[in-house]
Amino acid sequence: MISHKNNFLQYVAQTSDAPISLEIKKAEGIYLKTTDGKRYIDLISGIGVSNLGHRNQRISQAIRKQVGKYLHTMVYGEYVQAPQVKLAKRLADLLPDPLEATFFVNSGSEAIEGALKLAKRYTGKTGFVAMKNAYHGSSTGALSLMSDAYYSSAYRPLLPGIRYADFNSIDSLSCIDGSTAGVVIEIVQGEAGYLAPDPNFLEAVRQACTKHGALLIVDEIQTGMGRTGSLFAFEQYNLVPDILCLAKAFGGGMPLGAFVSSKSIMHSLSHNPVLGHISTFGGHPVSCAAGYENLQILSKSGLINKVSEKEALFRKLLVHPKIKQITGKGLMLGLALESEDEMHQMVAHCLQNGIIIDWFLYDLTKLRIAPPLIIRENEIKKVCKVLLDGLNKL
Ligand code: PMP
Repeated sequence: MISHKNNFLQYVAQTSDAPISLEIKKAEGIYLKTTDGKRYIDLISGIGVSNLGHRNQRISQAIRKQVGKYLHTMVYGEYVQAPQVKLAKRLADLLPDPLEATFFVNSGSEAIEGALKLAKRYTGKTGFVAMKNAYHGSSTGALSLMSDAYYSSAYRPLLPGIRYADFNSIDSLSCIDGSTAGVVIEIVQGEAGYLAPDPNFLEAVRQACTKHGALLIVDEIQTGMGRTGSLFAFEQYNLVPDILCLAKAFGGGMPLGAFVSSKSIMHSLSHNPVLGHISTFGGHPVSCAAGYENLQILSKSGLINKVSEKEALFRKLLVHPKIKQITGKGLMLGLALESEDEMHQMVAHCLQNGIIIDWFLYDLTKLRIAPPLIIRENEIKKVCKVLLDGLNKL
């Protein structure tokens, strides 16, 4: 078999200083197979995407069926395309009122960009509040929400008028005021190292938004689609977003994102000027067909109900003096070690032993555990044994 490794580094633009460079042959369930004949457990779900595992049979079938009918036919929002309509309707049925209108895009960053524009347009204001150490994407607007200047300052000028609150600090919410168009928040902070929210904090965020006429923009790009033990993480707290952003696992392995709001808020993008948001490929019929099947499986299979049991098993088995703390919620767990060096040693150990694991943008002492939700008890036990063996060698 021809290896593409050299051409990968030569011709596929790189921004990582250390790409994992596994050469993928096939993916199935929780497993990735590489061209050198090895098999790996994907303990990070391709970074929060493969919640039903890789190549779920029903999703693959839905993709094939749609490919047999039509691919792209027209830019977003002009033609009636059944896969889009079915997915938007099913989403509206599953979401609380007034979340009813879905604008489909292709990625998480695009969902955030759309949400920022919508909040500005609807409120007539321009300021935003984001949480420190949040990650909302790599496009200019989303990057502007990043508090960590290391990643953003080289790309100035960014969006003006952005303030940062401390996640889980009610006091720091005083930066939300009459100039705030929107407050953007992840329910469980992802790149900060899987930090679960204090329910009172989230309630206070909701109250501050309502009080000051700011829209609450909830980024469920990583927490959504069952990852934390409910279809959307916000359902476990006392709040309803004004705008909900989805991507990653939303497309069942296909590129798909969305921002969802009430009909009346969303209406502000359709007049004065018209075409307030446009996309050529947003809501691609094949992605929506996959997303619909994905949502049907997740909402009907009972798989999400088992997430907390699986979380409990990880927490029960992962007890070791080298583990300082396990943060996160559901199958979104951060294993805190003592140092970055220990984290890198563990990543190497896991790779050698057939497990793909990763770290976080803003916390280099933690390991990221976010397997497909379909992972079984015996597989969790196997993974934890490998992790504990590695910890013993540190
Ligand atoms: N928000 C969150 C919480 C994310 O985790 C990510 C991706 N890691 C994004 C937004 C951006 O999504 P994308 O890479 O699809 O643009």
